[in-house]
Amino acid sequence: MPNNDNSPQRLWLNGEMLAQSQAQIPVMTHSLHYGGAVFEGMRAYGGHIFRLEAHIQRLARSAELLGYTLPYPEAQLCAACDAVVGDNGLDDVYVRPIAWRSAHSLSVAPETMTTHVAIAAWQWPTAWSRGEAERGLRLALADWRRPDPATFPTASKTSGGYTIGTQAKARAASAGFDDALMLGYHGDVAETSSGNLFFVRDGALVTPTPDCFLDGITRREVIALAREAGREVSERRVALDELARFDEVFTTGSSLEVLPIVEAAGHRYPVGPVTRELMRAYQALVRAPEREPVSVSA
Ligand code: PMP
Repeated sequence: MPNNDNSPQRLWLNGEMLAQSQAQIPVMTHSLHYGGAVFEGMRAYGGHIFRLEAHIQRLARSAELLGYTLPYPEAQLCAACDAVVGDNGLDDVYVRPIAWRSAHSLSVAPETMTTHVAIAAWQWPTAWSRGEAERGLRLALADWRRPDPATFPTASKTSGGYTIGTQAKARAASAGFDDALMLGYHGDVAETSSGNLFFVRDGALVTPTPDCFLDGITRREVIALAREAGREVSERRVALDELARFDEVFTTGSSLEVLPIVEAAGHRYPVGPVTRELMRAYQALVRAPEREPVSVSA
């Protein structure tokens, strides 16, 4: 997890590079009260941010889904992310751009709101770099579900949406698990609190259709890697009672990378060969920035 002791020395706030202690925002910030911030999480490898443009595009799309536009062009935000990594002399780090709105009124929908952007980066070692990638995660079945897209903008990576995952993960952690297995509003398997899920059976992959949760950038890259390796990948609804029939399970995300799941809702899994193959392939990919990104559906 990010460690406050490693918090960024300098961050980018509304076009300026500032010492972290100087970067303050008012308590009466609209998005703080109503959950309307949007953010991204990405990793830099050797100073190069993996899929930076795709993340910044998703940031802009997340804001659009909440009815606002980022106040800086995407190219400027990409350059600012690189500057934060470079300015802090960081190589292998996590980068967090966040956009939010303020207003002179705390009315739920004031007529005028001002949009702000900050970008921070900090050392957050990966499970892989710590040599822990093979331990695997244990997931407890969550009570909380991912909402119907008719009731929440589920394709937006918005702070409001994270209230669900933080609750689910905290409950799982208090019961001794690493994370939560979350179902969608429909009752089928969705994702964890912060990563997409893949299931393996007879060498083929199945991943839940992202109909009420983020279609992760890592998820799309892993689908492409698996297909390149000649593996069949299907995106479909996955029922909870299918979990007993899978050979391997793993999760994906920009911060987690590719991590094995060794227990999910009471079923146990080994860290199997397909998971290992994709963990290695992903490690090679993130250090090969010249490779074209796969397209991410909006
Ligand atoms: N779902 C949730 C809830 C997440 O927080 C993340 C991490 N951003 C993902 C899925 C995976 O997304 P990505 O691969 O784009 O990081």
